[in-house]
Amino acid sequence: MISSHLKHIILFGPPGVGKGAQAKILSERFHLTHLSTGDLLRDEIKRKTELGRRVEAAVGRGEFADDETVLGIILASIDRPQVHDGFVMDGFPRNVHQAERFDAMLGVRAKRVDRALFIDAPERVILERLGGRRICNECGATYHVQFKKPRREGICDVCGGRILKRHDDNPEVHRERLETYYEKTRPLEDFYRKAGILSHVNGNQSIEDVAAEIARILMGKKD
Ligand SMILES: [Zn+2]
Repeated sequence: MISSHLKHIILFGPPGVGKGAQAKILSERFHLTHLSTGDLLRDEIKRKTELGRRVEAAVGRGEFADDETVLGIILASIDRPQVHDGFVMDGFPRNVHQAERFDAMLGVRAKRVDRALFIDAPERVILERLGGRRICNECGATYHVQFKKPRREGICDVCGGRILKRHDDNPEVHRERLETYYEKTRPLEDFYRKAGILSHVNGNQSIEDVAAEIARILMGKKD
């Protein structure tokens, strides 16, 4: 069994860089719980909780859920018993305010973010990858025409649902998402550098090579 003394990991980077895939590999390899913000939000919607209703309303308006709603959902997730051994957070925080609030939340639990992994890739690569994304209509599982094909074309491996291109999935929307990322999420690089826990990861390589680079970082073999 591989282990690392780093138990609370954040993955961030531009949309489409492969954070979800890496979070899954990393959580399995190091026995940490994968907390995917997308999955957590979808789960709240499915269970029709108050937070879920707020998320659904925001998504319906084509927006992200507001910070307070997201923080409420994250807070509930980190207090689950299975998360006590550590987590890999993917899709959160999205901005510096969320990161500050998250630090405070962990602080009162005598925990901290041990490592923030910044997976980056050139803009040209990101736009190319975003164009190939597909999503299951039923369960929200994500696929990619090039990097993550389902076993049967058009059919979800997880639930058998239909895999589609999201209706709002077009180059215009990708540009907007990238702009939001540069404005809101990219400043996390500075935030975590100042905290002394930032590591850069080259996202412009195969999923396996990215995973290997991350493993080296967590094993303390690379800064
Ligand atoms: Zn599915």
